[in-house]
Amino acid sequence: MSKVIVSTLYDSDVFKMACRQFDKAADAISLPEAIRDRTKYPRRCLAVALPVKRDDGSVTVFEGYRVQHNLSTGPAKGGIRFHQSVTIGEVAALAMWMSWKCSLAGLPYGGAKGGVVVDPNQLSPTELEHLSRRYMQEMVNFLGPQVDVPAPDVGTNEKIMGWMMDTYSNHVGHISPAIVTGKPISLGGSQGRREATGAGIAYFVKKYLEDLKIPVGKATVAVQGFGNVGSETALALQNYGAKIIAISDYTGGIYNPKGIDIKKALAYVQYARVLKDFSGGEPITNEQLLELKCTVLAPCALERVITEKNAGKLKCRILAEGANGPTTNGADKILDQREEIELIPDIMCNSGGVVVSYFEWLQNLQNYYWSRDEVMEKLYVILDRTKDAVEYQKRKFKFNRRLAALTLGIGRVAEAKAARGLFP
Ligand code: NAD
Repeated sequence: MSKVIVSTLYDSDVFKMACRQFDKAADAISLPEAIRDRTKYPRRCLAVALPVKRDDGSVTVFEGYRVQHNLSTGPAKGGIRFHQSVTIGEVAALAMWMSWKCSLAGLPYGGAKGGVVVDPNQLSPTELEHLSRRYMQEMVNFLGPQVDVPAPDVGTNEKIMGWMMDTYSNHVGHISPAIVTGKPISLGGSQGRREATGAGIAYFVKKYLEDLKIPVGKATVAVQGFGNVGSETALALQNYGAKIIAISDYTGGIYNPKGIDIKKALAYVQYARVLKDFSGGEPITNEQLLELKCTVLAPCALERVITEKNAGKLKCRILAEGANGPTTNGADKILDQREEIELIPDIMCNSGGVVVSYFEWLQNLQNYYWSRDEVMEKLYVILDRTKDAVEYQKRKFKFNRRLAALTLGIGRVAEAKAARGLFP
């Protein structure tokens, strides 16, 4: 009989939420007890103290984590988050979702995530560089191109990946671009990686609009979060012909029923850093944005924004989960009853990012680089395959779409673990 781990290490709402998703999926596919707990819980983690010399000469110690959930199906893969509300429990939940996501997309990866408890907006560029390099320095023996390959997430970007790659390369004594993905092109980054997550979300949205027989030119879109994922999603959907009626970041939102010029908003954010006071529409709150009447709602910021409180008030046809874990378990139950809303679950919806990260890693290992057209073409092949598999699973077992995606992702990891034996 399998003994359940009683772990307080990762205790948090978001970790419990990922665990409940797992339990539901494991029950749905009758996952044998003997394999459950080791498929569910993270394999290992590392917590580090990161002293950083500040510009005023003082030293601040930041806390950082890396959680490797699954290493049975390939090197672990997952982003690094710099945010003030990071906890090890949140990082563990995000690592679990990376495992199911990579497995669902058929990538030869496990799942991991990293994080540092810091508001990167409060650091100078020099302090940010020192923190990023120190994080990688502390992680050198825990990561590796065949062990665990980080990427950007909330609060991190290409530049930070470049510093991390350089730090690792200096340590091992030769350039090692495959240690991280999402790097600048000049350091071995892939064409198309920056926009991949948003492009993938927009591609799925376009496909589901087609299924619903809604012309993309008639679709209205509200996007929460205007960082890498949110802005690229908005831009790609606008390029497809959709009208973006609302966007937001942590400072609040902008609403314009006539449509927002996303290129202008991007240019504004590049200079002002935040959307606040952007003149392209009326100000609204993030809460109001989620409840707007629109064809597509894309939460692309943080977890747990769609809750029992607002799930009944959503007025969209498609809920495209660009963020990881934007919908609580309670909200899921409500949305399950609302058949008029097509939910594209996070591990499927935002998988374009890790797919192109995989392409970047492959290009680095081969030292052979692809054009943007090749990258995007190969990306869409994988996204189509994922959608077909999820829709088939959904129909076959009469699951909702999240359960279909989770059971596929989890089932494949469990199968590989069972085939390998007890160690991995
Ligand atoms: P980012 O740091 O580039 O952008 C985050 C955005 O969210 C910013 O505009 C920020 O202002 C906004 N935001 C933060 N707190 C908010 C709040 N409380 N309300 C509204 N907006 C808020 O991060 P990102 O890389 O775009 O990641 C966004 C989400 O997408 C995360 O859930 C991340 O895990 C997920 N994701 C990212 C990638 C990737 O390739 N970067 C891939 C898959 C999934």
